[in-house]
Amino acid sequence: MDEATPTPLPEGGENAIGVTLGLMGDEWTLLILRYAHQGVRRYADWRERLPISDSVLAARLALLTAQGLLERTAYQRRPLRYEYRLTRRGREFWPVLVAIWAWEHRWVEGRDASLPWMRHAVCGRHMQPRMACAACGETVEPRDVASRLGPSGGGGRSVPAAATRRRSGAAAGAGAGAGLFPETMALIGNRWSVMMLGAAFLGAHRFGEFRQMMGAPPAMVSDRLRTFTGLGVLAGEPSADRADWTSYRLTAKGRAFFPVVMTAIDWGQRWFRAPDGPALESVHRACGRPFGPRLVCDGCGGALAEHDVLVEEAPAGATGR
Ligand SMILES: [Zn+2]
Ligand SMILES: [Zn+2]
Repeated sequence: MDEATPTPLPEGGENAIGVTLGLMGDEWTLLILRYAHQGVRRYADWRERLPISDSVLAARLALLTAQGLLERTAYQRRPLRYEYRLTRRGREFWPVLVAIWAWEHRWVEGRDASLPWMRHAVCGRHMQPRMACAACGETVEPRDVASRLGPSGGGGRSVPAAATRRRSGAAAGAGAGAGLFPETMALIGNRWSVMMLGAAFLGAHRFGEFRQMMGAPPAMVSDRLRTFTGLGVLAGEPSADRADWTSYRLTAKGRAFFPVVMTAIDWGQRWFRAPDGPALESVHRACGRPFGPRLVCDGCGGALAEHDVLVEEAPAGATGR
């Protein structure tokens, strides 16, 4: 198969968002990719950097290879040894990792001291990425992008089936994460959280709207609304229409997760194609063109390229905001 060819998805099954969230909903997968982007290729080198068991690492490397993000090649014949290199598909995943890093760094209490910092090689500044429209270059907020479900977007097809399976039954240990990105995982680590996040970005405000868009039992909706308000991603206030109803809106912290969602969907729809079309169609309201995300440096405004993003130790004393 040509390395640059998207994978066709089976008709009526999981769509590109479902496949992507299935990969992202597993913290180990994200961590393996993160180190792959820093040059790790060999089994022992991941084992050295991550508190991961042999069986979990082997399973995740096999999954990433099957999904076309890694390519397995023999680097030694006797005894036979393999290494795993990022394919073009795997390399192009970097904006998602940078977006997750930026959100954790900015919004999760205490994380700026424990996460590495990023420097933009072009301007030399410590940077936070911002999301811009790839077509016109303007910075975008969630309200600047009009999104609607595409032909493959309905019927629960954006829900990652694999993530649900992995988390049930005897394999619970393998499904448990590293605990290194707990708040990111609280938003994307299981199907109902993902559905709630999607509904919030598509404009749900009331309990009934979340319930309808998520297709979830009321107890599940209540549970996730509590989790999301507890994390400070949603805030509830009395509805303007009826004081005894609560209206939920995304907070600044919640809206700041938008680049993670959009870079992930963009990557997924580029590399996985449902036969009936995209799962989500987005337009940048200001320029009227289809929205594709591009990360730019908040210091100089330049578009980020993977090799210009330098990962550094956090500066000494970086504890506050
Ligand atoms: Zn635009
Ligand atoms: Zn810069």
